[in-house]
Amino acid sequence: MNKLAKVFVIAEHMGAMQELVSGAAQLGESTALVWAGDKGQAVGADTVYYLGELNNDRILEHYAPSIINLVKTEQPNLVLVESSRKGRLMAGTLAAALGTSVLADATEIIIDNGVVTKRMVYGGAALSSERSSAPTTVATVSPGVFETAAAGKAANLVEVPFVAPATSVKCRERKTKAGESVNLRAAKRIVAVGRGFTAPEELKLAEQLAAAIGAEVGCTRPIAEEEKWMDKARYIGVSGVMAKPELYIGIGISGQVQHMVGVSSARTIVAINSDKNALIFKQCDYGIVGDLKNVLPALLAQLGK
Ligand SMILES: Cc1cc2nc3c(=O)[nH]c(=O)nc-3n(C[C@H](O)[C@H](O)[C@H](O)COP(=O)(O)OP(=O)(O)OC[C@H]3O[C@@H](n4cnc5c(N)ncnc54)[C@H](O)[C@@H]3O)c2cc1C
Repeated sequence: MNKLAKVFVIAEHMGAMQELVSGAAQLGESTALVWAGDKGQAVGADTVYYLGELNNDRILEHYAPSIINLVKTEQPNLVLVESSRKGRLMAGTLAAALGTSVLADATEIIIDNGVVTKRMVYGGAALSSERSSAPTTVATVSPGVFETAAAGKAANLVEVPFVAPATSVKCRERKTKAGESVNLRAAKRIVAVGRGFTAPEELKLAEQLAAAIGAEVGCTRPIAEEEKWMDKARYIGVSGVMAKPELYIGIGISGQVQHMVGVSSARTIVAINSDKNALIFKQCDYGIVGDLKNVLPALLAQLGK
């Protein structure tokens, strides 16, 4: 693949930072990470531009003028930004300062006479391709687009002078978010449940299967958003988690595109559905036609042997 001369990464979370730094190495001859917070975590790129601490008096947004100065001086060809809330804000601020616009939520980045990104539109039903002609392209990148590579130590650490923002937001309080902490993106195996489950008690069957094969439990959006039987962090799809498991077992799930794009990179897809015409059977490697209330106990009995 063609490479760009210089690719920068702006990230706020470790996982995204590792993915983007690995992506930057695929796309650029030289890579740099722009990082605030724990200095020891900033590894993997050729250069680390260290912004400073993160605390209640200094939040990521305060570093926007410093980042803009740095990018204007260093002129990277591409800046990959984590697609988090703060990342998207930073990407917009940076792009506006550079007189360009953001290529948003890239699911693929191609270097072909410039930067071309692809992203999902119409709830995942289609892909839109966008080309940037800006000297510095700013792109936000969806999670899971790049595989994390084993990170070596950063060769060169540069302290970036702080440029105070003209106006600033103050962080007044931090609270731990109530709810579960689950990282389906990192899960190797996922057992996912859909509306084929008609009562929360039935989810036990899926949880037992997950426990038996060392999987995390995921779900479709209606199970989390409408039934509220599971935490939102567990729903998979275009508006939820994009997962990349080795094994995905979808149970009582119809296979609508908005859900299935979230597991399109799964190595093996297994479907269990009582309707032999369910869409999911067109997208799976192995399918079992049957009522989950019969199939799951039978599977559990086999696994228990
Ligand atoms: C803009 C937009 C974004 C969306 N984003 C997401 C998203 O990110 N993630 C997501 O999941 N959805 C998303 N959706 C919703 C999505 O379109 C589907 O409505 C949803 O995924 C369907 O969930 P389901 O498969 O659980 O339910 P259903 O479509 O109702 O399917 C239930 C399935 O269970 C089967 N079944 C019934 N009884 C049994 C039984 N006893 N045993 C076995 N099988 C049985 C049925 O045959 C059926 O196929 C989005 C929708 C929109 C419009």
